[in-house]
Amino acid sequence: MPTKIFLNEDEIPRQWYNLAADLPGTINPPLGQDGKPISPDMLAAVFPMNLIEQEMSQQRWIDIPEGILDLLYRWRPSPLHRAIHLEKALGTPAKIFYKNESVSPAGSHKPNTAVAQAWYNKEFGIKRLTTETGAGQWGSALSYSCALLGMECKVFMVRISFDQKPFRKSLMETWGGECVASPSNETQVGRDILAKMPDTPGSLGIAISEAIEAAVSDKTGKTRYALGSVLNHVMLHQTIIGLEAKKQLDKFGIKKVDTVIGCAGGGSNFAGLAFPFVLDKINGADIEIIPVEPASCPTLTATPFSYDFGDVAQMTPMLPMHSLGHKFIPAPIHAGGLRYHGMAPLVSHAVEAGLMSPMAIKQLECYEAGLTFARTEGLVVAPETCHAVACAIRCAKQAKEEGKEKTIIFNLSGHGLMDLAGYAKFMAGELQDIVMSAQDVKESRRISITGYPVPKI
Ligand SMILES: *Cc1c(COP(=O)(O)O)cnc(C)c1O
Repeated sequence: MPTKIFLNEDEIPRQWYNLAADLPGTINPPLGQDGKPISPDMLAAVFPMNLIEQEMSQQRWIDIPEGILDLLYRWRPSPLHRAIHLEKALGTPAKIFYKNESVSPAGSHKPNTAVAQAWYNKEFGIKRLTTETGAGQWGSALSYSCALLGMECKVFMVRISFDQKPFRKSLMETWGGECVASPSNETQVGRDILAKMPDTPGSLGIAISEAIEAAVSDKTGKTRYALGSVLNHVMLHQTIIGLEAKKQLDKFGIKKVDTVIGCAGGGSNFAGLAFPFVLDKINGADIEIIPVEPASCPTLTATPFSYDFGDVAQMTPMLPMHSLGHKFIPAPIHAGGLRYHGMAPLVSHAVEAGLMSPMAIKQLECYEAGLTFARTEGLVVAPETCHAVACAIRCAKQAKEEGKEKTIIFNLSGHGLMDLAGYAKFMAGELQDIVMSAQDVKESRRISITGYPVPKI
C-alpha cells in the first residue's frame, strides 16, 4: 500500500456538499433581536447577497465556480497520507489516515473558504473585508486571499494572541493585510470594553463585534465582513476536504471507514472532512464521527443546545448552537483557534441528531500526541490539530486492545511551525491542564444570558 495519494488537478471536486439538505428533523433558523427568523435583507449590511443565499440554501450539491477552482488549484488537491510510522510506533492493527491541509500557503484549511468568500465578495462589488482572528490563522488566510484578488483586508486580532504570536501579524502584513489588537480604540465596542476592562486578554466574541462594526459603519457600502468558521457557507466551502479524501481513500483501496476525527473550535475543518461521511451515515453506514474539543473550552460535550449570539455585543443574529455564552472569556491556553464560545449550528444540530460522538481532551495529552506525531510522521502540527491527533491515538490504542483492524481518518488542519512557543512551554513543563467544571460552564452561561430572553428550542 502507498503512503500517500495525490489527486490530479482535474480530479478536484466540482461541487460542495451541503449537509443542511440532509439533516434529519427541523433546522432551527437564526433569529433576530425580536425572536423572529431573520430575512436575507437583515444580513445585507454584513455579507454580500450571493453568500447570504448560500448561507440559507437547502440545495444538496452546490457548483464551485470556475473562478474559485482557479484559486484553489494554487495548493489543492491536498494529499492524503497513511500514518504508517505512527501506526508502527503504537503497534496498532488500525490504519490511520490524515488529510494534510497544512500544505496551503497560510498553513491551514482556512484558505479553502477564505478564497471563496473573497471571490464572492469581489463578484458583488466589494473592495474591502474586515474580520477577526484568534491565533492569527484566519487573518492570514483572508489576507492571503484578498492579496490574490486585489482587495483590502482589515483584521482584529484577539489581544492575547497578538502579544503571544507577533509573527502572525507580520504574515498578514506580508500579504498586504492590516492587523490591530482587539479590543481596539477603532470601534465603539472596543472603546467601551477597554474603558471597563483595560487589561482584558480579549476574545473571539469581542473581535467579531469589532469587525462587524467596522464593516457596517463604512458609509461607502464597499466593505463587508467575513467569518472563518461557524456559519453554514463556511462549512460548505470546507467540504472539499472530505470529498477529496473520499476519492483518495478509494485509490488506497479502502472500502470502509470506521472513525472520522477532526478538532473543533467553530467546527469548520471538522465539518469539512466529516460532512461527506455524515451523508454516508445518514444513508446507513456504520461510522463513528468525532469532533474533538479542548477540555478548557468545551461546548458540544458540556453545554445545552440553545440560542445564543455569536459575539459579545450581540450584533449577530441568535444562532442555534452549543455555547458557553457569548460573554465567555477563555483561559489563555495555546490552542487559540479552539477558544470560541459557540459551535457551528450544522455541527450542533448533527450532534443533537445523534450523528456524532463529541469528545473533550485536556491540553497536556494533546501536546504529548503532537510530540509523538512529530517524532514518528515528522510533521509538527498546530496545537488545535493536536486534539485530533490525540483522539486518533486513543482510537488506535483501543483498536489494539480489541484486536480490531479499524480504519481511522483525521484532519490535519494545520502545521504548528508558527506555534512553537506553545510546544516550548510544554516541553519545559510549564503548561497545566485547565478544565472547565460544570459549575464554571453554568456561571459563564448565566453571565451571558442575563438581560435578554433566550428563545426556547
Ligand atoms: C482555526 C483553526 C482551527 C479551528 O477552527 P475550526 O473552524 O473549528 O476548524 C483548527 N485548526 C487550525 C489549524 C486552525 O487554524
